[in-house]
Amino acid sequence: MRTPYLAGNWKMNLDRRAALDLVGTLREHVGTRTDVEVAVFPPFVYIDEVARALAGSPVRVGAQNCCDEEKGAFTGEVSVSQLRDVGAEIVVLGHSERRHIYGEADELVNRKAQRALDGGLDVILCVGETLEERKGGLTEKVVRTQLQGGLAGVATRDMDRVTIAYEPVWAIGTGVVATPAQAGEVHAYVRGLLSGLFSTDVAQTVRIQYGGSVKASNVKELMAVGDVDGALVGGASLKADDFLPILDFAR
Ligand code: PEP
Repeated sequence: MRTPYLAGNWKMNLDRRAALDLVGTLREHVGTRTDVEVAVFPPFVYIDEVARALAGSPVRVGAQNCCDEEKGAFTGEVSVSQLRDVGAEIVVLGHSERRHIYGEADELVNRKAQRALDGGLDVILCVGETLEERKGGLTEKVVRTQLQGGLAGVATRDMDRVTIAYEPVWAIGTGVVATPAQAGEVHAYVRGLLSGLFSTDVAQTVRIQYGGSVKASNVKELMAVGDVDGALVGGASLKADDFLPILDFAR
């Protein structure tokens, strides 16, 4: 059984006060629940305080990116060990904003994934096609290339620390959400790929989140799809009034 995994990607939003208010409410709401796994991904500068505010809570804290190098002269970068040092346990890699705005290619995403797993961070690897690619019938090809590229060389034993997020680029921050059928089709495809790349066991255990305009009003029908194991939530993770009902999708 795959525990639903609901994660909030704050991107470059919120200030210290708003971040701490939000996690205070989140902490109280989640309590000691184990029916869902919850994680938040603050901007780097707030990870430390957010992690302290969540100490002892099952809500986990992660980073939105990390450096592919261990340490040294990489101005502006943040290393895996530094992230762990301030309380991050997970890192989101290959987000479409990193791929499309900052030009991150699969090779770099892969180096980051290997560095993160070696250094003790869990990974959420994002994959997804643009609207043009979908219209051109390239969805499977894009997802396959990003998945294979991102996970190249990752050991089967580390796959229990990897989550895949299917995030169609056309659905991110647009208010246009994939239909349950569209999400289900790609999620099943990803699961099949994982089976071929690793094993059926890995394919059955790895969680595949959907991301792209998830809200309280659409999360239930997405989560009803067999291969959808959670959500990576951007805009709707910034306010408790929007995020908490998403965590309660099954109630
Ligand atoms: C995201 O940033 O990963 C995302 C899915 O954003 P949104 O929920 O705002 O579409």
